[in-house]
Amino acid sequence: FVTGKRKATEVAHAVWRSIVQKGDTVVDATCGNGNDTFALLKMVADESGRGRVYGMDIQDTAIDSTSSFLKMAVDSREMELVKLFPICHSRMEEIVPKDSPVRLVAFNLGYLPGGDKTIVTVPKTTELALQAASRIVSSGGLISVLVYIGHLGGRAQLSFVESFAPSMSFDTWMSCKFEMIHRPVAPLPVLIHAQEVITVFGVCKG
Ligand code: SAM
Repeated sequence: FVTGKRKATEVAHAVWRSIVQKGDTVVDATCGNGNDTFALLKMVADESGRGRVYGMDIQDTAIDSTSSFLKMAVDSREMELVKLFPICHSRMEEIVPKDSPVRLVAFNLGYLPGGDKTIVTVPKTTELALQAASRIVSSGGLISVLVYIGHLGGRAQLSFVESFAPSMSFDTWMSCKFEMIHRPVAPLPVLIHAQEVITVFGVCKG
């Protein structure tokens, strides 16, 4: 499923596509400029108006950027399916309706491209957000974390995510990591899967 994909984001999107279906509810925990929100919206939006993307970012500028991008890129019917919130992702449970099973929570860690590079995701709130994600992701769903290791603090984020993933119950979760061997400082997608189903990665417990 990764044939022809050259960027880590494309690899992550290809994995999401193998899990997410039309009509699903998904969460973009770091909207940034809206590229992931857009990709997710296209995956879940169906003809009858089902499918929801709950997006959040700590920066108002990122929410504005995502909103502007989507308004240009999608029609008003699809726009209705996206709900954007200027909040920390550790608060995601406050905005996702309790009765909506969530198929995917996507994190794209780091700073806002083209924005203030001092405002970055940090392990403390990422941990709270991953814990929240683990509570709302439904069986067979996925937590996807894209970690940029090329910028200051990136390796610390990776170390944190790599230690967090195996701390989750092995009876319920499995995790794996993609590494771009051709591009040693490229972002790494780390995928944490709520098992109950056979996964595309083929490494989940029986
Ligand atoms: N997904 C985005 C896209 O497709 O353009 C890129 C995301 S960018 C690498 C990381 C984003 O995380 C930044 O926009 C930043 O403001 C946001 N962020 C940092 N800390 C956050 C937090 N605690 N909660 C939510 N968003 C946060």
